[in-house]
Amino acid sequence: MVAEGTRRSGAGPELAEITEQITQEYVGRTTASAEAYARARGVMPGGDTRTVAFHPPYPLTIVKGAGYTLTDLDGNTYIDVLNNYTSLIHGHAFAPITDAVTTQMQLGTNYAAALQAQAGLAEILTSRVKSVDKVRFTNSGTEATMMAIRGARAFTGRELIVKMEGGYHGTYDDFEVSMHPSVDSGPDGEPIATIDTLGVPQNRLQTVAVIPFNDVAAAERIFAERGTEIAAVILEPVMGSAGMLPAEPEFLRALRELTTRHGALLMFDEVMSFRLGPGGMQGNYGIYPDITSFAKIMSGGLPGGAFGGTDEVMSIFDPFSKQPLWQSGTFNGNAVTMVAGIAALEHFGADEVARINRLGDQLRSRIGMLLEMYGFEAVVTGYGSFGAIHFTSGPVRNYRDAARSNQQLKKVLHLALLQEGLFVAPRLMFCISTPMSESTLDEIDARFERALKRLDDIR
Ligand code: PLP
Repeated sequence: MVAEGTRRSGAGPELAEITEQITQEYVGRTTASAEAYARARGVMPGGDTRTVAFHPPYPLTIVKGAGYTLTDLDGNTYIDVLNNYTSLIHGHAFAPITDAVTTQMQLGTNYAAALQAQAGLAEILTSRVKSVDKVRFTNSGTEATMMAIRGARAFTGRELIVKMEGGYHGTYDDFEVSMHPSVDSGPDGEPIATIDTLGVPQNRLQTVAVIPFNDVAAAERIFAERGTEIAAVILEPVMGSAGMLPAEPEFLRALRELTTRHGALLMFDEVMSFRLGPGGMQGNYGIYPDITSFAKIMSGGLPGGAFGGTDEVMSIFDPFSKQPLWQSGTFNGNAVTMVAGIAALEHFGADEVARINRLGDQLRSRIGMLLEMYGFEAVVTGYGSFGAIHFTSGPVRNYRDAARSNQQLKKVLHLALLQEGLFVAPRLMFCISTPMSESTLDEIDARFERALKRLDDIR
């Protein structure tokens, strides 16, 4: 362990050497994964079909998930602290979900007709989420946010969307604006909307504006300048991919007030954050949007999504209305996803939400203490069952703060964690699932500490 007061910034030459050494160890214990990856490379670009799941030298090939554990092709096991990017609230192969899905599969998967399970899942969502009177189903979070924004544009008759810099809402073109811009872009470091994803048309910049998260003055400015053009402001109440960053309540309050005053809609993307409160994160804040998107845990770990809002806003989709907004999707509200979502949410009541949120609070504080003990300059962000590690001195309140974290140090710690059997995101985000308990935290803690010991020579 480093002497008290020593801070590791990861700027020293040892970082490259240690990265190489840990990479070699990873390769040594995952030879079957390496072979599977080589095969995949022959038929898929980079052997990959989901960029976020890729990491050098190659991702693990997983063959089994059970509860909070994963097993790879080489027989190595891991504690899964990622849960398919937060979507597996009950971990893997949760019996009530597998039973419901198996029963439904035997009755058929979808029928291009109404299903009782659609209304059943919609009733669960509307009873839990105060701002949601009506919902529609989709096949992913991307589609849910896309349709919700289309609804907001149709409802207001305006086109401009305001999003947060670094905010991720799926892969629809509009949401790819300023997804991961350079941290120094914009005049005087003030964010401006940029296209930083290949293939996204420049003309998206005409219909999307960008402000920094947690910046009330910037929100006031954009409404003062373009208030009559704004259809909606979209944000996550806890920004996920930007680094598990909770919104400051005064920021949400300001957005609620500004949108109402200017006739725009407030949209919360609760694709990730829905699990943080029985009524979503909006219920925890007591600040309610006009329209909300859901996915991940809401569809029980299967592909799916939903969006919903007030009766007035959602009436735009009503086929009985004069000019309804058309929503297609062969698998929208399919029977298998619906029963999986119902089973997942029926087993995730307020007590379970609170229990895993408490576990998450403990885990963040324990990880923070270990990083401090081992002399790393790091900030652990998050809320409830969510957490993320940033190698920076902080504070971390928005995308730019998080993006300034030492990325190389993240990469090497990620591989070291895999070596110790902890499966987290390469960007070092983690989350709790319901099969976990205090004893799981003890094991995570011990493995995390062993991983830090591997990085002992870093300066
Ligand atoms: N919105 C948020 C906040 C997300 O985190 C994600 C996915 O990670 C999406 C939307 C897109 O969801 P999907 O991957 O189901 O399309």
